[in-house]
Amino acid sequence: MSGREAPPLSRSMLARLRALMSADTALAARLAGVVRLVAGELVAEVASIYVARPGEILELAATEGLRAEAVGRTRLRFGEGIVGTAAAEARILNLPDAQLHPAFAYRPETGEERFASMLAVPILRGTEVLGVIAVQNRLPRRYGDDEVEAVETVAMLLAEVLHGARRADEEVGRSLAATLSRHYEGVGLTPGLALGPVHRHGRATHAAPVLADDPVAERTRLAAAVAAMRSELDALIAAPGFPSADEPAAVLDAYRMIAADTGWVARIEEAIAGGLTAEAAVERVLAELRARFRGLADPLLRERVADIEDLVGRLLDALAGPTDRPAPPPGFVLIARRIGPAELLDYRRHGVAGLVIEEASPTAHATIIARALGIPLLAGCRGVWEAAQPGEAAFVDADRGRLVLRPDAELVSAFHAACAARAARVAEMAGLRALPPVTRDGVRLSVMLNVGLLADLADLDASGADGIGLFRSEIEWLARGGLPDLPTEEAIYREVLAAAGERPVLFRTLDLGGDKLMPGFGHDEEENPALGWRSIRIGLDRPALLRRQLRALLAAAAGRTLAVLFPMITTVEEFRAARELLAAEEKAAAARGAPPTRVLAGAMLEVPALAWQLPALLEEVDFLSIGSNDLTQFLFAADRGNRRVGARYDFLSAPVLDLLEEVARAADAAGVPLSLCGEAAGRPLEALAVFGVGIRTVSVSAAAVPAVKAMVRSLDLGAFREVLAGLRRSARGGASLRADIAAYARDRGIVID
Ligand code: PEP
Ligand code: MG
Repeated sequence: MSGREAPPLSRSMLARLRALMSADTALAARLAGVVRLVAGELVAEVASIYVARPGEILELAATEGLRAEAVGRTRLRFGEGIVGTAAAEARILNLPDAQLHPAFAYRPETGEERFASMLAVPILRGTEVLGVIAVQNRLPRRYGDDEVEAVETVAMLLAEVLHGARRADEEVGRSLAATLSRHYEGVGLTPGLALGPVHRHGRATHAAPVLADDPVAERTRLAAAVAAMRSELDALIAAPGFPSADEPAAVLDAYRMIAADTGWVARIEEAIAGGLTAEAAVERVLAELRARFRGLADPLLRERVADIEDLVGRLLDALAGPTDRPAPPPGFVLIARRIGPAELLDYRRHGVAGLVIEEASPTAHATIIARALGIPLLAGCRGVWEAAQPGEAAFVDADRGRLVLRPDAELVSAFHAACAARAARVAEMAGLRALPPVTRDGVRLSVMLNVGLLADLADLDASGADGIGLFRSEIEWLARGGLPDLPTEEAIYREVLAAAGERPVLFRTLDLGGDKLMPGFGHDEEENPALGWRSIRIGLDRPALLRRQLRALLAAAAGRTLAVLFPMITTVEEFRAARELLAAEEKAAAARGAPPTRVLAGAMLEVPALAWQLPALLEEVDFLSIGSNDLTQFLFAADRGNRRVGARYDFLSAPVLDLLEEVARAADAAGVPLSLCGEAAGRPLEALAVFGVGIRTVSVSAAAVPAVKAMVRSLDLGAFREVLAGLRRSARGGASLRADIAAYARDRGIVID
């Protein structure tokens, strides 16, 4: 504290700060206490501490006022943004409107766009910059000298704390950064929570010579290794332990087919004939395959890279003979860049508790296996494989899409509480299965299920949904890698109808294109694929293809009701044209003598233009389904898969809700059944608003059914409708109504969490 005058902080405040900083608690907890105190004392809406990490990086280590999830995640280089400039130039920046400063760097995850003024003070020890402390306020203002001095004082105290922590860590050989928690955001592909030591998935590297003298001997080694690999795979796949036997069977069969495919083995043999050792030949062919698959536009084919790497890794292991690999620690969290299905099965034998896969997607084979095994899986989290150290603790929260490395004590106890709460919720939700979605004021709503793969059909009974509100027919085709032949296709639809029994099923026709590209289908490279040749546009341009699908559907539904849903209808004429194709196939089915008893045709409202054709449309359709994923992306002109713009516009705002209400009103007046089947309805708060504007049926993923039902059963719909109407009337422009709706729900005990 270098002989300076007493700073303009109250004595009691100084005493509290000192006590806090010297407390025997984790550094993260002390820093969190400091920002709370500073924000309170300075009447600042935000107080944050950024800690310098090796490589001149500043990492948000504590904040009061910015989003908590940005802690450990928001990073700035020295010189970047206001905070980075304060660090790089070791000087105080006092800005009435920080966003006007040329160095301002926007970090959407912090939510800091709401704050105008900013004071950033470097945390210095001598000339060394240990971090930055910043305060922010909503209104533009320049901070007074007293306030600047107060923050300087806190920075001086912090310098001692951070220096002490750094020294203590150096003594035990850790960097300061390695003691702080680190947060990552990802996408939960299988729900659940896990806490355990990190185990990184990586293949053992086998040093082997590249050139061989005796190609015949190498070929013999290869043949033996291929045989060993295949029998090991068979044993692995045959091992019992899947909670549901059918679910992963198709996936593993597909995988086994890749293993049995002689094409790539032949290519390895060619490379051996060219003078390479078996190992070098395997590596060469893998590199070729990787390059070929990565260049493909089709995401499903790209995903097969993980399968092939899995197989190739096994082959290399078989060539190397027995090796000692460190066994994973008990209850481990597996962190992988990518992983194949068989590798995952290996880890299951070791008791994996949670999975973080950087390059996983909903349709990847490993994902399907993880789902079948009920292992929480988080995808995304770029760079985590590099950053995670084996053995350190990792907390996977696949329900909320986050991963925390080195969680602090607070988070660990929050994890245990969350596990207990989750178990209670799962039990409660299971109890909801048999209960109908009836509101407290007696309105029977309907919660249906979105289905993509046949494997998902089991969810219908398990969730207690009212039927299948959306069968995405193309997903099963994509998973199989191409169009099934007609009998197979018919059998698929028959299986869906059999699983549904008396419950209704809405079969959506081909929704290919956009991000769903089928190998060998002739999709052109398009500048804006979401707006391009996709969905019903393909169906109408390739009528033979659509008619073939309709034929399979009609045959499968012989003797019962068939409901066909045409996606991405943009004009009434398109619907009419599709319906004509259906009518032609209906005639043919009647002539064959086994038609459905009733055929209904509906349109998906996904393109805003269709909303201005409602009177004509409603005269022609038997039912209407709103695809809110596409509809909102087109309404806001914001790509549904682009994270940068994803959080910018809110579904819970007047532009969306007004439109939905208008559609609901028109559909009711015309007596046309209406549902909403996009992901939005799977979130209880959004589902609440959907019901609040008068839509009575939603279709959601299986995981969302119980939560939406629980919300419905706690809701007084009549009262909420009035409140929502009022909120929408007083809404300003496109502002989000989320906070107001959530506050009302919490106040009235509506279950939205
Ligand atoms: C939608 O767009 O809301 C929808 C249900 O279709 P998909 O998500 O399959 O595009
Ligand atoms: Mg869609």
